[in-house]
Amino acid sequence: MRFVFLTLISLFSSASLFAEPIKVVASFSILGDMVKTIGGEQVEVTTIVGPNQDTHVYEPRPQDAINMANADMVFINGLGFEGWIERLAEASGFKGKPVVATSGLRSFEMEEKGKVIDDPHAWHNPDNALIYVKNIKKALIAHDPENKELYEKRALDYLHQIKDISTWARKELSQLKPPLKKVITAHDAFGYMARAYNIDFMAPVGLSTESEPSAKTIANILKQIRNTGVRAIFIENISNPRVIQQISKEAGVQGSGVLYSDALSEPGTVADTYLKLMRHNISTLVKAMQ
Ligand SMILES: [Zn+2]
Repeated sequence: MRFVFLTLISLFSSASLFAEPIKVVASFSILGDMVKTIGGEQVEVTTIVGPNQDTHVYEPRPQDAINMANADMVFINGLGFEGWIERLAEASGFKGKPVVATSGLRSFEMEEKGKVIDDPHAWHNPDNALIYVKNIKKALIAHDPENKELYEKRALDYLHQIKDISTWARKELSQLKPPLKKVITAHDAFGYMARAYNIDFMAPVGLSTESEPSAKTIANILKQIRNTGVRAIFIENISNPRVIQQISKEAGVQGSGVLYSDALSEPGTVADTYLKLMRHNISTLVKAMQ
């Protein structure tokens, strides 16, 4: 009896069983899902910018500063996506250094209003998501080496699932003829997907959603629709659908549905994880371009 009791004590006092989860703050929902997938029960993830919300124009709340002050680790996308993160980190007194999920990734730049800026939307190419996974795994292991094997196993499973999506997307999209591979979305969120699968995306606003589209840009898109016969026009889950609806109406082209650009959908719905978001976007795109 005594032996059993002691064994139980030693079992339950083992650090990994009773360890508090690592308090993680992720800047936006897609990244939060990736960290949860790899961190499992070892992490407790709070997301700053939630489902269907727009990170570009987000205004941090006092609760975000509190969450960040209490965080053991903070994960961000980087590439200028979270323009407000430095101010928030400073205001919260967060002492650590945020983990940049896109670190080491080959980013693309675009010229906007005379300035060259990084395109932050790297997750829309699943091959880039493999780099996110590696960076997240590495950071979690560095913070919590005791659970190295768990993080490695989950990351490996996740990598296989992302690679499956990459292979499937390539197969689906390679069947489409180039004149069909033209798409209109609300903002320039799909540059990485465009390059990966040779799709031509057009949008009334640029890389960020901060500015309103000009009349000239809208006229230009309408001209493109007339000239090229593009039929795939999408609203995005994070943006006001007004401009896209106006373009659809003026061009006489019916909308093709919703693409999930910079955020997941609400839990329990069609794009509530990164994997589901990618599957939804790619199958929706293929359907519209056929
Ligand atoms: Zn965006």
